[in-house]
Amino acid sequence: MKKEMNKIYNPGEWEDDIYEKWEKSGYFNPDNLNLPENAPNYTMVLPPPNITAKLHIGHASMLAIEDLFIRFHRMNGYRTFWIPGTDHAAIATQNVVEKKLLKEEKKTRHDLGREKFLEKVWEFLNETQNTILNQTKKMGSSLDWSCQAFTLDEKRQEAVKKMFGDMYNEGVIYQGERVINWCPRCQSTLADDEVEYKEQQAKLYTFRYSKDFPIAISTTRPETKLGDTAMAVNPKDERYKKYIGQTINTEFCGQKLNIKIIGDISVDMNFGTGALGVTPAHSIIDSQMAQKNNLPTIKVINEQGLIKENFGKFSGQTVLQARAMIVKELKKQNLIEKEEEINNNLSICYRCDTPIEPLPSKQWFVSVDKKLDRLNGKSLKEKALEVVQEKQIEFIPDRFTKRYMDWTSNLHDWCISRQIWFGHQIPVWYKDNDIRVGDKPQEEGWIQDPDTLDTWFSSGMWTFSTLGWPENFVNNKKINELEKYHPTQMLETGYEIITLWVSRMVIMSLFALNEIPFEKVYLHGTVLDKNGKKMSKSKGNGIDPLDVIKEFGTDALRLSLLIGNTPGNDMRYSEEKVASNRNFINKLWNISRFIITNTDDLSDNYDKSNLNLSDKWILNRLNNLIIESRKNLQEYQFTLAGDKLKDFTWNDLADWYIEAKKFEKNDDNNKILIFILKNILRLWHPFIPFITEVIWQELGEKETIMIASWPQDINVSFNSEEQDFELIKEIIVAIRNARFVNKVEPGKKIKAIIIAGNKESLIKEQKYLIQNLKTGISEIEFISANTEPDKNNIILINVGSIEIHLLGAIDEEKEKMRRNKEIENLNKIISVIENKLANNDFITRAPAELIQKEQEKLKNYQIELEKIKNNI
Ligand SMILES: [Zn+2]
Repeated sequence: MKKEMNKIYNPGEWEDDIYEKWEKSGYFNPDNLNLPENAPNYTMVLPPPNITAKLHIGHASMLAIEDLFIRFHRMNGYRTFWIPGTDHAAIATQNVVEKKLLKEEKKTRHDLGREKFLEKVWEFLNETQNTILNQTKKMGSSLDWSCQAFTLDEKRQEAVKKMFGDMYNEGVIYQGERVINWCPRCQSTLADDEVEYKEQQAKLYTFRYSKDFPIAISTTRPETKLGDTAMAVNPKDERYKKYIGQTINTEFCGQKLNIKIIGDISVDMNFGTGALGVTPAHSIIDSQMAQKNNLPTIKVINEQGLIKENFGKFSGQTVLQARAMIVKELKKQNLIEKEEEINNNLSICYRCDTPIEPLPSKQWFVSVDKKLDRLNGKSLKEKALEVVQEKQIEFIPDRFTKRYMDWTSNLHDWCISRQIWFGHQIPVWYKDNDIRVGDKPQEEGWIQDPDTLDTWFSSGMWTFSTLGWPENFVNNKKINELEKYHPTQMLETGYEIITLWVSRMVIMSLFALNEIPFEKVYLHGTVLDKNGKKMSKSKGNGIDPLDVIKEFGTDALRLSLLIGNTPGNDMRYSEEKVASNRNFINKLWNISRFIITNTDDLSDNYDKSNLNLSDKWILNRLNNLIIESRKNLQEYQFTLAGDKLKDFTWNDLADWYIEAKKFEKNDDNNKILIFILKNILRLWHPFIPFITEVIWQELGEKETIMIASWPQDINVSFNSEEQDFELIKEIIVAIRNARFVNKVEPGKKIKAIIIAGNKESLIKEQKYLIQNLKTGISEIEFISANTEPDKNNIILINVGSIEIHLLGAIDEEKEKMRRNKEIENLNKIISVIENKLANNDFITRAPAELIQKEQEKLKNYQIELEKIKNNI
């Protein structure tokens, strides 16, 4: 009995059930794949989304790409393992909850206290976490949920404590006083790459500390000069050479300063006055200069962004107030030599846009330069460079290798402590002058360090903390899953976190396991709106993937996020694109429905000895498609693969092959169609998993398509037949076009006379296709090249060396009427312009340019008229 299938594919009716079936099948878990012992691994961690908010379209794009990689490898016999999880995102989450608290309850975290506040955070994140998991499943992600992790769950807390302890014991983690980036609003340290820059106009002041000070300096921040302890000049600078080594005591706006003049070749003699006031407490560069020259550090600005005590009338003022007061005072004393507007980059907090204050502070650091026994005497930085140089890790696209190398070469010690409450609390305990690191001491009286760890510390351990490190690392040997799956094969993530996350994962893995965390890094771009703008909730152009899925289905969304997406480049998203892909999904459904419901035999073992030209053509095309799309996907060029698949499905299969089959008699027609369908469903599956699964089941397959094998080469060689059929297609298209261009009435039957040369027998054989595939050809006659055909009332077309004459295509009477109408219209237009140009008023008043334009127009219309008359 022939099958019935719904006329329309409605994704909402199928998707949830299918996902549930996949989950129940157990095949998301690599252990259930029944693979041979020596099957290669394909392991990937999901970059854990922040639990600050539900997923946006950028996440949807990431999930689509990663699931495509995973499904493709699973079908190719890899032991495929994709590890899910979420990120607690310390500072980001704390900010969201703080804002919420202020808005809803008009309270700050200090009003609640640490414990109560953290309860609020956990409440919030349980909610968002559920939303995120639901969204992730809706996208069709084939993640192994049995090993779901969270960067702040118990196992990861244990891992973080162990890592911190190990690093501390080897002197990699240390506490030190450093000038760090401080956000006075978040009340926390920021890592170098959590600082953003905003171009702004600023005033650059050039002045002397006092009347008798011999050298002037330039700065945009005069208030920090209260903390100057030196002045740096270039030792080659003839103007200032003689002062080097001297210490000059002076008074700056009522405050005593002892300024040592130091020589430093990095000072640019041509910038400003060629002299630099050195403020060790409030500039990272100056603090390094101070270290080299043993200069004292005087802290001027406190953690609240106010001037500290002991600075007279300036104490307690904000930075901006103090700046205004100092400028006023300098003016009064007539010390300002120059005041100019310049453009400079203001450092701001990446979370709240507040200007950063560089401040000296006691913090925990990871040393990247300490030589380590476990790395054969190399430092983490050296080793992190080496593994990429040796191509143990490869970046896709390759241009990001340079970004990684540049950034890593300039890496400074990593400040890992944050003065916030939410996150991994630093596993250090104090009692009087004692310090314990790692686990909480059993005895009473120990107080834990109140700070928490930089969020990237725990997410940096993601590849191995999710695989059971440290339990699965015994006597420096990996066991269990850690042994089986680490290093992972692929990390797929956004290029914007190559420094924040990717490089830190390398460092953490090198320290913990002395091996790389992943072999390849695929970097995707940002999804922009259709106008090329960044999407965000506040701009109102943000999109919830669930809304799109509800309207168009997951497959249409996935396809829109995959095709057109290329490594390392931003891509544009538009609803029009999703709608058009939804139409494609429907097309695929209709093609399948046509094939499946037309036969009661769903087998695909067609007779290879009994093939038409069109069969050979489509089989050859399919074979090339299988080979090329496999190569494209292996090289992560999924846009190319998707375009080819779409072209084959829509053009080759639907528009040509299925149409041709309606006129070709072959007992095996349906078997070939089933064969093609089974192949393209598997080729399509990694892109559009849901509909391919539905149709696969309609074909009577018992197992899920998810573990069906990727199509094998078909082992056909019909290249010349493919070319022959392409020629037939070209002839058909040329006739259709000629009818369209010459406005031949759609229903009208016309006769074709063909001079085909050596292609005559081919065309004769395929005559029925040329006549039947929407060409309106009633009859075909073949004549030889030296016969002169009747040249009246014909349309002549050439396809390569083949000449085709279409007879009776043009209706002489109608054509004449049409031309006369055209002549009449042109005459009217010409006389209007002629009158205009004869009008004195117009000629004298109109600009010369306009007159010239009108004259040109007139000339063109006259030429056109001439042409039509000549044709007659
Ligand atoms: Zn901030």
